[in-house]
Amino acid sequence: MDTAVVWFRDDLRLTDNPTLSRALEAAERIVPVYVFDPRRRGETQYDTPKLGPHRARFRRESVLDLRTRLRERDGDLLVETGHVEDVIPELVDRYDAAAVYAQTKPATEERSRERAVRRALPGDVDLRSQWTHTLFHPEDLPTAVDRIDDTFTPWRHEVEAEATPRKPAPAPESVPTPAVDASTVPTLSALGFDDPPADHRAVLPFEGGESAGKRRLEAYVWERDCLRTYKQTRNGLLGADYSSKLSAWLAAGCLSPRWVHREVQRYERERVANEDTYWLVFELLWRDFFQFQFAKHGDDFFTETGIRDIEKHWQRDRAAFRRWTKGVTGVPFVDANMRELERTGYVSNRGRQNVASFLTDALEIDWRWGAAYFEAQLVDYDVASNWGNWAYQAGVGNDSRDGYFDVLWQAGRYDPDADYVTTWLPELEGLPPEYAHRPWRLSDADQDRYGIDLGVDYPEPMIDVEARFDQLDER
Ligand SMILES: Cc1cc2nc3c(=O)[nH]c(=O)nc-3n(C[C@H](O)[C@H](O)[C@H](O)COP(=O)(O)OP(=O)(O)OC[C@H]3O[C@@H](n4cnc5c(N)ncnc54)[C@H](O)[C@@H]3O)c2cc1C
Repeated sequence: MDTAVVWFRDDLRLTDNPTLSRALEAAERIVPVYVFDPRRRGETQYDTPKLGPHRARFRRESVLDLRTRLRERDGDLLVETGHVEDVIPELVDRYDAAAVYAQTKPATEERSRERAVRRALPGDVDLRSQWTHTLFHPEDLPTAVDRIDDTFTPWRHEVEAEATPRKPAPAPESVPTPAVDASTVPTLSALGFDDPPADHRAVLPFEGGESAGKRRLEAYVWERDCLRTYKQTRNGLLGADYSSKLSAWLAAGCLSPRWVHREVQRYERERVANEDTYWLVFELLWRDFFQFQFAKHGDDFFTETGIRDIEKHWQRDRAAFRRWTKGVTGVPFVDANMRELERTGYVSNRGRQNVASFLTDALEIDWRWGAAYFEAQLVDYDVASNWGNWAYQAGVGNDSRDGYFDVLWQAGRYDPDADYVTTWLPELEGLPPEYAHRPWRLSDADQDRYGIDLGVDYPEPMIDVEARFDQLDER
């Protein structure tokens, strides 16, 4: 074949990108393209934006880095704006391409865009889609995706016993590309966003792109040797190194999970293999699990009753929801996490679990509102990881137990000195930890003593949270 189009989607990398490798094997010349489709910036049915400034910035930087890496290999990247089903066929025509290679993902909109492109291509041009974003390839699973277990542990045991990840492929040395018109990557403001202000409290700057993703892995695993203690530190809340922070690069496909896995194996050979090093792979299996669950259950993940048809009586109180999103519930551990999310696009796994449980268990607000809000805010948003974890937390997903997080207990356990809470809520600084986590217990005299006016400097709690948790305990 003379020419093939490679349509980059959530696979903005050259190392271990089977879509690109297959196209290079089949064609003499490649037309690499990335399309900024305005529908990715639309609104959800819950009146929340689908994309916020943190991920828009990260995506734009990732596209710029991809273009640089292609240019270093005799290639280039066409950057277009428009509906993919208009842009891709137009390029096929312009470059007389015989096939289109693209990544496939298991979620509704991603699949419908793929179908639309396929339909819009001339009859003799194939769309050859490749599943490239998980550690295990679905064809290598011991049980076909539509019959896999809905519970993580048995699924993991089976996969660990019977499957092996495929070897990651190195980046191609050359990507021969026909002369393409110089295309510009739209500025953030052309994409409709203001540059999010940098916040010195952010765990990382999260620069987009394969190059920055590899640098992060190098720093975390090799330079600072953090992998050897990962399981012990992963529930942390402050700083760059309590967990890998690779999620944003994995979600945009700047890093391949197989490549990350291979680095873990290399570390295990060259430095140490222990429960902590294994645990990073364990977490990558959670990531795979949600991807395959989406392939199995599809749209059911977006319904109120989830994949298990669980009826709950969800509240739809916009004012209460807004207090949660803005981090002004009056419950410091919740508010600190929500403010970190809004300011930086990232929050720890521990924080995500707590704020999700507070919304769905304590306030009983429709879990899909929370998932939709995260969709806009997260720098590492991934449809299956986000909606799968939210459904799980809300008790309508891959968990048959109906547990909840007592955020006050969690705050005491994971933030005993209230360092995290006072980092994000400086108005509580100077309070002893038990008050920083429960400011409603401050008497008037205490408020005078510590110089804080509850209801003015920091909100009164929106519910009697201690009574609410007693109630939940009795359920
Ligand atoms: C309500 C809620 C929403 C979430 N939404 C997302 C999301 O949109 N995108 C996302 O990548 N993760 C999501 N997670 C999972 C998890 O919180 C993040 O992956 C993790 O905090 C990212 O930080 P890290 O890269 O340092 O993770 P690490 O602890 O270093 O883990 C390594 C990698 O494993 C994967 N991983 C870890 N935990 C999970 C998990 N529970 N589910 C799926 N993958 C996991 C991630 O790719 C992560 O980068 C969500 C969790 C909850 C509770």
